[in-house]
Amino acid sequence: MSYISVLGIFVADISFSGNKIPNIGETILGDSYNIGPGGKGCNQAIAISRLGGKVNFISKLGQDDYGKLAINKLKKDNIDTSNIIISDKHKTGVAGILVDQNTGKNAINVIVGAPSTLRTKEINLNIIKKSKIFLTQLEIPKVTTLECLKVAKDSGVATILNPAPASTLSKEFFNLIDFFTPNETEAEFYTGIKITNEKDAKQAADKLINLGIKKVIITLGEKGLFYSDGKDEIFLKAHPVKAVDTTGAGDAFNGGFAFGLSQGKKIRECLELANKVAGLSTTKLGAGDGMPFYKDLR
Ligand code: ADP
Repeated sequence: MSYISVLGIFVADISFSGNKIPNIGETILGDSYNIGPGGKGCNQAIAISRLGGKVNFISKLGQDDYGKLAINKLKKDNIDTSNIIISDKHKTGVAGILVDQNTGKNAINVIVGAPSTLRTKEINLNIIKKSKIFLTQLEIPKVTTLECLKVAKDSGVATILNPAPASTLSKEFFNLIDFFTPNETEAEFYTGIKITNEKDAKQAADKLINLGIKKVIITLGEKGLFYSDGKDEIFLKAHPVKAVDTTGAGDAFNGGFAFGLSQGKKIRECLELANKVAGLSTTKLGAGDGMPFYKDLR
């Protein structure tokens, strides 16, 4: 089976679930908490691996307890950790997450830590070159992301950029991207088009394709997703579930989509799979910990 390389960050997610997200200055008594793996790259790698994909996670950790937690969790999920750099100068990332258990909505503060210093020269680029798919986001330094996208593209590897968190991208980026996967807010950031319905999503996708991106998937939260390659368009409604925590839904989606592609599935099948994986991920608390397994899809 061929490798999917995921470049991104690990952070220890410390999530608190309660009846509401407290207002500024307010204290509430919550119901439960979870300390688990998070960071978009890590979550996406876990999603792929739990579906049965062979995944190599490229990242950077600190030499601390959260770094150890990361390696243990990733190994438990059968993720290749041989390309994770351990730094004795930086801390492992941490995220504080407040979850409203009635709606599954959240508020997050991420401290990126060690991977904020990750440079291309530290990475074994052969891993990317030998992959079938290269999946990344915008949580590590953009220069590193850009250089690795170039390496992937030059080697004929399919590239997926989950452009989150939204951040200004140079023109160079767009020609290197096969699949661009923003959520509604990110799509608005990159296009200036506020997305409230399918028509808006189509307009935004057209604008992104004009920038040089080949295929666009805009995830629409509980409304589902919109796909366009400038010719074919697909709109899918979200998988019907009772969401309790939507943290990591986009990551589950990207992981599911990358896995589908690695299996040689058609675009529609990849989208359906990703939509289901993402929907199921919202039914459990935790980002990485909430990723479904292949057996859960039936
Ligand atoms: P992000 O987590 O990056 O903000 P979205 O909120 O757009 O991304 O969610 C990504 C995908 O997760 C959606 O396209 C959908 O497939 C799934 N999803 C999100 N929220 C729900 C929900 N409440 N019910 C079912 N599926 C959901």
